[in-house]
Amino acid sequence: MKFNTKAIHAGQKPEETSGAVMPPIFQTSTYVQKAPNQHLGYDYARVGNPTRTALEKLIAGLEEATFCACFSSGVGAIDAIIKTLKPGDHVISTNDLYGGTYRLFTSVFEPYGIGFSFVDMTDIQQVEAAINPNTRLIWIETPTNPLLRIIDIQAVAEMSSQNGILSAVDNTFASPYLQQPLLLGADIVMHSTTKYLGGHSDVIGGAVASNHEEFMEKIRFQVKTTGAVPGPMDCYLTLRGIKTLHIRVERSVENAKKIALFLNEHDKVEHVHYPGLPNHPQFELAARQMKDSGAMISFSLKDNTIERAVQLMASTKIFTLAESLGGVESLISHPASMTHGSIPKAIREKAGLSDSLIRLSVGIEDVEDLIHDVDLALTS
Ligand SMILES: *Cc1c(COP(=O)(O)O)cnc(C)c1O
Repeated sequence: MKFNTKAIHAGQKPEETSGAVMPPIFQTSTYVQKAPNQHLGYDYARVGNPTRTALEKLIAGLEEATFCACFSSGVGAIDAIIKTLKPGDHVISTNDLYGGTYRLFTSVFEPYGIGFSFVDMTDIQQVEAAINPNTRLIWIETPTNPLLRIIDIQAVAEMSSQNGILSAVDNTFASPYLQQPLLLGADIVMHSTTKYLGGHSDVIGGAVASNHEEFMEKIRFQVKTTGAVPGPMDCYLTLRGIKTLHIRVERSVENAKKIALFLNEHDKVEHVHYPGLPNHPQFELAARQMKDSGAMISFSLKDNTIERAVQLMASTKIFTLAESLGGVESLISHPASMTHGSIPKAIREKAGLSDSLIRLSVGIEDVEDLIHDVDLALTS
């Protein structure tokens, strides 16, 4: 099956007792047993639920994985991955990382004795230099947030496997429609399904997928033991969202490309970060690694102040000022004061995240309305 067919059919079959074409919302906490441990495959809903199973099979199909486990949030999924490690273990990650991941790593797991190095992963030598005998995991996030730099998944995955280290990719920003990390050699792929997979900004969720049986055993143990599982209604909403993933992302990217070109020519704009622009430092890598250049854009202003950025964001009418991304509606945000507020200013600036940087998540509205909206806000 090709991707667009998989988005609708992978792992989905009509429900057996009724023939319902769509997976029912199995709103139950427990399942009947004929005799102790004799059941139809489900014993307790923390461990498994058929609506969740349908979602896991669908995401596994889209990521070319044999196993997938779903979580109640993206950070819940990351938390489970890091808990497969132990004190003394070391993780290498990017210095341009989702703020919530950074907070989880440094505020929760560092105090428990897991070490983290944050490096510029667009430079493979920096990754290699950070490897030490305790390194167990390389955590890739690409495109990065919010600067939309591109990390070479294949090169990092190759280097990590040569060193006996697992590599994981947070694929939230690209979605499996644009990028399939396991096919590029990564061991683990993770999603905040809250974003493009769900696609309608109405549900929080996470997923981990892999072909690595031993690793997925550990993840299943985490699901059962630490229990950050999604409810059946949330699984249903995410399943419903995924069925239009390919057409949503395609249209969002089409819109984003036009907006990026418009911003790139605008005299109030200092710099546009977008992997689809030829001036992007990893333009060629993005073209090779991704099916298309994505629907996230960030840009800085000539008037590089927090005040001006805040004023601009208050004056858009269609772009809604909000955290998050990947929904059908366009969103605008200010990383320095919102998503990346938990990263200290000095570290933020060192990573190139300027005060006026604005991030757009481009939705599927009419692109002329979107361009008009940004233009008015820039010139007001
Ligand atoms: C949103 C996000 C997360 C966290 O996911 P939640 O569903 O909000 O817990 C992790 N990584 C990236 C890249 C994200 O955008």
